[in-house]
Amino acid sequence: MEIKFVKAETLKEKPDVSKIKFGTHFTDYMFEMDYNPTDGWHDPRIVPYRDLTLSPANTTLHYGQAIFDGLKAYMHGDKPVIFRASDHMRRINVSAKILDIPEVPFDVIHTGLKKLVALEKDWIPKDKGQSLYIRPFIFANDDYLGVNVAKTYKFLIILSPVAAYYAHGFSPVKIMVESEYVRAVRGGLGAAKTPANYAASLHAGLVAHQKGYDQVLWLDGVERKYIEEVGSMNILFKINGEIVSPSPKIQTSILDGITRRTVNQIAKDWGVPVAERRISIDEVIQAHADGTLEEVFGSGTAAVISPVGTLEYKGKEYVINGGKTGEFAQKMYDYIEGLHMGTVEDKFGFIEVAE
Ligand SMILES: *Cc1c(COP(=O)(O)O)cnc(C)c1O
Repeated sequence: MEIKFVKAETLKEKPDVSKIKFGTHFTDYMFEMDYNPTDGWHDPRIVPYRDLTLSPANTTLHYGQAIFDGLKAYMHGDKPVIFRASDHMRRINVSAKILDIPEVPFDVIHTGLKKLVALEKDWIPKDKGQSLYIRPFIFANDDYLGVNVAKTYKFLIILSPVAAYYAHGFSPVKIMVESEYVRAVRGGLGAAKTPANYAASLHAGLVAHQKGYDQVLWLDGVERKYIEEVGSMNILFKINGEIVSPSPKIQTSILDGITRRTVNQIAKDWGVPVAERRISIDEVIQAHADGTLEEVFGSGTAAVISPVGTLEYKGKEYVINGGKTGEFAQKMYDYIEGLHMGTVEDKFGFIEVAE
């Protein structure tokens, strides 16, 4: 499928990335493609970034049949590169399947992504920790109020330059273990990157904020016992020298985060033992009491690694590693950032050149 190109008449002025808030500035172009039952996915094109016009009866606005992903591009010298582009593009189809969205042709979105990023390479910030955030998404585009799997869809990729997440260094977060609300349950949508899971998490997040916590750690929705994830990050524990994390293969209400996979691949390469298994909140608290809970940290594309300094559960606070960033989390962050920046050799094949 040929990817068409429509040139913008004027280009925007590029912002000082160190001063902008996440997700507020967008580049000059976006990738766009449509689906209908007769033509399938068709008309892939790179066009000037613009507002969309939607019918007030647009199905997504009413019933939320939509998915998204998030990944990042960097500059290696004068070459634009994307971190684990193929894995993210493959995950779009994992999410699509769960929401009954027709499978998108991998080659078209993968090529479209690389072409778009190459075209917009002057938007990729170069300083340490900065990046070009990439947001692919699909939404149902019928103008129809009936509750049905939609017949028409739109696929878009938009790009947004982002400042360093840790411009002032790491500061470990305070996390509230949620014992009242649930985000996703077994048999639900947890394994898809879909707006519904975020809608389900907003209120609990707000309540946690009001109590002085940064984020919520979700427990399983059935027994309220097993650790799931932090909503936009997966969670990992270092217990007695071993990196333990809940696995989306065992707990199907967890998102299969690509950063968690990256962390585990690198840890194994370093010879650090890695376990993917169920872990209960009681086990975490017991490990804290025993002194074997060495570190807790989140993993996700936005923050990469987010050290957890405090966990709150049922009114009690548990301080981890004296509230300071753990040695492993720091070393892992520095290594992944090195891969992003091109200062660490990419022996895993995570880096894809955008051309
Ligand atoms: C995106 C996301 C993550 C992190 O995934 P990465 O691929 O590492 O960015 C974790 N949990 C949820 C619910 C997410 O949406």
